Amino acid sequence: MELTKRQKDIIEIIERSESITGEDIAKELNVTRSALRSDFLVLTNLEMIISRKRVGYSINKDHKKKSTLNEIGELEIKFVMSVAVNLEETVSVYDAIVTMFEKDVGSIFITKDNYLSGVISRKDLLKVSIGKRDITKIPIHLIMTRMPNVVFAFENDKIKDVARDLVKHQIDSLPVVREKKESEEKIKYEIVGRFTKTNITKLFVNM
Ligand code: ADP
Repeated sequence: MELTKRQKDIIEIIERSESITGEDIAKELNVTRSALRSDFLVLTNLEMIISRKRVGYSINKDHKKKSTLNEIGELEIKFVMSVAVNLEETVSVYDAIVTMFEKDVGSIFITKDNYLSGVISRKDLLKVSIGKRDITKIPIHLIMTRMPNVVFAFENDKIKDVARDLVKHQIDSLPVVREKKESEEKIKYEIVGRFTKTNITKLFVNM
C-alpha cells in the first residue's frame, strides 16, 4: 500500500523527533490534530508507528527492519552477483582443481563452445581425486553436473527467489545467464555472472 504525502511527512517528523505528541505533529504540519486522526489510524494499523499514552508517537523499529529485509529481497541479483569463473569442458580435473585454488572459488561453471554446459563443485573434484585414476587425463565433462540439471538464474531475477533456489537445491552457487535463442527448441545460455551464498552474506554485513 502506497502512503500519502501527508502520511510520509508524519513518518519523517516522528523519525526526526522520536517520541512526539499528535498535537506537536499537527503544529509542524500546520493543520489541526483532528485533521490527522485518520492518518494516525492508518499508520498505527499498518504497525509503522506506535502510539503511547502521554508519551506520543514513535517509529515501530520491528516494522522498519522487516521492510528493509523485504526491499533487499526484491532487488535484482545483477546488483550483487560476482564475476563467474568458467572453464571449457575438455579441461582436465587436475587443471580445474588448480583453477579453483587460483581463483578462490568453490565451484566452476563449465562451458561448451562458450555456452553453459555444466557445473563442478569442490565435492565433485574430491570424489574423483580419491580414486586411483590419473586426474590429469580425466576431462571435467565426465564428472560435472550437466545441463539440463544445472540450476541457473537470470540477471533480473529477485534475490529472494534465487536465494530460495540455493536452499531448495542445496547448492552454494549458480550461474547467472542470458538466453541465446538459436531456434524455437534450441536455447543456449551465455554466462554473465555467478550468484552465491557469500553474495547474500555480504549484503547482511553491509546493511
Ligand atoms: P560443495 O561441493 O562444496 O558441497 P555445492 O553444494 O555447490 O558445493 O555442490 C553440491 C553438488 O551440487 C555438486 O555435485 C555440484 O556439481 C552440484 N551443483 C552445484 N551447483 C549447482 C547448480 N547451480 N546446479 C545444479 N547442480 C549444482
